[in-house]
Amino acid sequence: MNTAAAFADFRTYPLISALSGVQALADRILVTWADTRISPFHHQWLRDNCPCPQCVYTVTREQVLEIVDVAEDLTTANARVDAEGCLCVDWQDGHQSRFDPGWLRAHAYDDESRAERRAGKPKSRLWKSDLPLPVFDYQALMNDNDALLQWLLAVRDIGLTQVRGVPTEPGSLKLIAQRISFIRESNFGVLFNVQSKADADSNAYTAFNLPLHSDLPTRELQPGLQFLHCLVNDADGGESIFVDGFAIAQALREEDPESFKALCEIPVEFRNKDRHSDYRCLAPIIALDAVGHVSEIRMANFLRGPFDASVDEMPRLYRAYRRFIAMTREARFRVMTRLNPGEMWCFDNRRTLHARNAFDPATGARHFQGCYVDRDELLSRILVLQR
Ligand SMILES: [Zn+2]
Repeated sequence: MNTAAAFADFRTYPLISALSGVQALADRILVTWADTRISPFHHQWLRDNCPCPQCVYTVTREQVLEIVDVAEDLTTANARVDAEGCLCVDWQDGHQSRFDPGWLRAHAYDDESRAERRAGKPKSRLWKSDLPLPVFDYQALMNDNDALLQWLLAVRDIGLTQVRGVPTEPGSLKLIAQRISFIRESNFGVLFNVQSKADADSNAYTAFNLPLHSDLPTRELQPGLQFLHCLVNDADGGESIFVDGFAIAQALREEDPESFKALCEIPVEFRNKDRHSDYRCLAPIIALDAVGHVSEIRMANFLRGPFDASVDEMPRLYRAYRRFIAMTREARFRVMTRLNPGEMWCFDNRRTLHARNAFDPATGARHFQGCYVDRDELLSRILVLQR
């Protein structure tokens, strides 16, 4: 905080440009910044965001005021820049508000400020088969918050990382996942053991080849991050394969826009059932965010229910589905590596699809442990580390 003004946040907002002038209009205040940008702030917006202790509880820094408790036509009696460079507003009903210029600039909603914020948002860096694999060291991640932040940024932006030097005792995975935050438990446990089992409750627990997929597409919210830690890998085969689902979706959008549209629009059901549970989720394979960027891929052929689309849509869905799967098999998108004991994958499960080649249990043991952490935990941890 560079002024004594309060604000409803725990992070700081550097002073990008000082306030140089204030002009009151009928329904808004026009603020001029030292770098000549002009930002309008409606009276409603300013009153709504008043950070005073009556409007924001100082302990939680959460808002107490509800804007409906203030007159809709409230106007200002006076607005000025004070000696500390804050915007001070005296309201007609006697309330006073004081805004830190760093905070105000960070939340200004003139076109230029909004465009700047949009441009500054983290962007996914799409990759193909030539990805230089981002590799991190376990000890550094456990002991050094700067190293941890670099790893988490790579997970967020690239969606596939490898960690080396992880102890090979079962359960070691838990410690590094908890460096981020809470582990997401599922019906497969807090940690799941990827081993071939006679009574397998998933194709994952066999020696079969597993095609490219996301985990738990059967849930309304697929786990954000997946960790896969290799304890033992003596069996022939079993290489890990990854593709950037966002890169495939992007290529599909350019090369076959009709199929892209079908996968964004037509929901598909994924099912995971055993003797004790029955999870089902109906959702499109490609999800877009509010501005039309691909935000999620949902895919596991072995967990898919029969398509339920209209008679007219069925051929369109099959065409699109075949095209997508065919693209996941194209060499241009695939990264293939064998994971050795003490190495761990951490990837964005809602973006990076993973696969495993078949392995031969007769040639040796193979034991991986895995767990999930949600994307919210990753993003929150990054913001706190950046404070
Ligand atoms: Zn107030």
